[in-house]
Amino acid sequence: MTKEIEIRCAHCNRLLAKGRAISLAIKCPRCGTINHLRAESTSRESQQEDHSER
Ligand SMILES: [Zn+2]
Repeated sequence: MTKEIEIRCAHCNRLLAKGRAISLAIKCPRCGTINHLRAESTSRESQQEDHSER
């Protein structure tokens, strides 16, 4: 269950990293914006509290 996510800059949308991130902070080398990433404990893409089943 290796699921990779794309970590992009919240400011300029530059691709910073790829993979799994748990409580990480990446500084964008392009615009200098520090992007804080929260832990993703669950394997599902339920970032928001939305009960939408497929
Ligand atoms: Zn950026």
